[in-house]
Amino acid sequence: MRAAVLHGPRDIRIETRGVLAPVADEAVVRVSASGLCGTDYRIWSGDRPVAYPLIMGHEFIGEVAAVGAGVVTLRPGQRVAVEPNFSCGVCPLCREGNRNLCLSRTAVGIDVNGGFAEQACVPARCCWPAPAGIAPDQLMLAEPLAVVVRAVGRGEARRGERAAVLGVGALGLLAIQLLKSRGLAVLAIGRTDRREGLARELGADEFTTTSSGRAPEVARSFSGREGVDLLVETAGTGAAVEQAVELVRPGGRLVLTGLPHEPSTVGFFGVVRRELTIIGSMIYQQEFPEAVRLLSAGVVKVDRLVTHRFPLERIQEAFAAHRSPESIKVTVLI
Ligand SMILES: [Zn+2]
Ligand SMILES: [Zn+2]
Repeated sequence: MRAAVLHGPRDIRIETRGVLAPVADEAVVRVSASGLCGTDYRIWSGDRPVAYPLIMGHEFIGEVAAVGAGVVTLRPGQRVAVEPNFSCGVCPLCREGNRNLCLSRTAVGIDVNGGFAEQACVPARCCWPAPAGIAPDQLMLAEPLAVVVRAVGRGEARRGERAAVLGVGALGLLAIQLLKSRGLAVLAIGRTDRREGLARELGADEFTTTSSGRAPEVARSFSGREGVDLLVETAGTGAAVEQAVELVRPGGRLVLTGLPHEPSTVGFFGVVRRELTIIGSMIYQQEFPEAVRLLSAGVVKVDRLVTHRFPLERIQEAFAAHRSPESIKVTVLI
């Protein structure tokens, strides 16, 4: 099978590897679409070191090609979305159901080979069946959507509330739609106004930018009070967290889904004084099937989110495209 193998920073090569054979509880997936995200970019550029050589790619879907002898829940030919994380299953965190927090969690495409290849081998429990009708490069968004489903669930979004989404990348544009489908009014906040039209098209009731310096004022007028009830932060920068704190009303909730790699200077005086609830939300726990359902039912629309498509041979260009301002989700079609 062909695979894009990372041998070191920015050194990715298309190579031929042996066909994968599943053992025991594993499934081999014939990959059809594999998305790129900021994590992949950081690994590719060398910002995040990994054990080389590595086949990256953690947002992928495909068809079951073969299953190990112990697998009874899947059959070859089934369309599946792959949950690219699996936990040890035996530690206290796993036993409590907190498998996303397991300290021995394995990330497919980061710790072990992933989906920038014709085939990937994963535990069968990572494969979530999906209807055949949905296009591969749309089902592929199940992974980031599962992140958003968890974030919105952690924030206990309630119908009728006024919410804000900070960051209008793929996660933010998914969060806008999910919050709208749950009956909340949504203020979208980008760094610039480049995505205003798209955010509104996907359901945002109001739009502002952090660069205007007006976001706190807009959050107040949008909510008709001191700030929004709930904010979902998807930008993943220290600065975004600082800004987020200013947009929520006293007693409000902030859910952080981005992973800021630099420290921030949040004024905790205001957090205490205004009794803010700050909630971290780490990938997903049970949310993958719900993400698949939302995509299959068309509740969340992703056709406008996939901005670039490349064949595996041109994966180097996919990384360059990821950095272009107009890119939302770059896909490798295999
Ligand atoms: Zn990712
Ligand atoms: Zn564990």
